[in-house]
Amino acid sequence: MKSVILLAPPSAGKGVMGNYLIKNYGYKHLSTGNILREYALKDEELSERLKSGKLIDDETILKILEDYLKNISLDEKIVFDGIPRTLHQAKVLDIMLESLNRLDYVVVYLDVTKDNLLNRVLGRMTCSKCGRTYNSRIDEFKPINEGICDDCKIPLVVRCDDNESSFMVRYQEYLENTEPIKKYYQDKGCLVVIDNNSINQTEALAKLVGVLND
Ligand SMILES: [Zn+2]
Repeated sequence: MKSVILLAPPSAGKGVMGNYLIKNYGYKHLSTGNILREYALKDEELSERLKSGKLIDDETILKILEDYLKNISLDEKIVFDGIPRTLHQAKVLDIMLESLNRLDYVVVYLDVTKDNLLNRVLGRMTCSKCGRTYNSRIDEFKPINEGICDDCKIPLVVRCDDNESSFMVRYQEYLENTEPIKKYYQDKGCLVVIDNNSINQTEALAKLVGVLND
């Protein structure tokens, strides 16, 4: 199978896709957020920058990523999550992957309409005790009693950034950053679009596996 770069708008189901590959096909999860936190344990300056909430520059991210990738066997296939975020990162990543002999990847874009994304975000509720998530706007994921966890019988919690204006900001930012990246990969001929509008992701997951086996 091939490594995969997952591109998707917020709440499009990227996490489910990534976890599926990790659990069922032994993929290695490469999340820049996790790697940065791991490296920050050994690097005080980086640790300070992460704590301050400042954006970490491309060069730093890519340098750490390269160091990380060098230590992973070529037999291991990777789910790239959260990278590239910019066109510049995409280009530098390619140079890096080429030098590491890792250009056997596919870029998968998860296509979900804005309306569906909004429903997923605005209906989302979580149980603070067992962590189970529900959705008040999607029949399949509604709790039996409105606003109450089926198992724990306690009120469900809505995340404070799960509101329409916060979503629109994240979505707009995402589109602006991602369109050029999509085009870059499309021009290279390695972009595959998978329709992930259905709540039941079985079909989308099967397509993903098919693409990675090609
Ligand atoms: Zn619960």
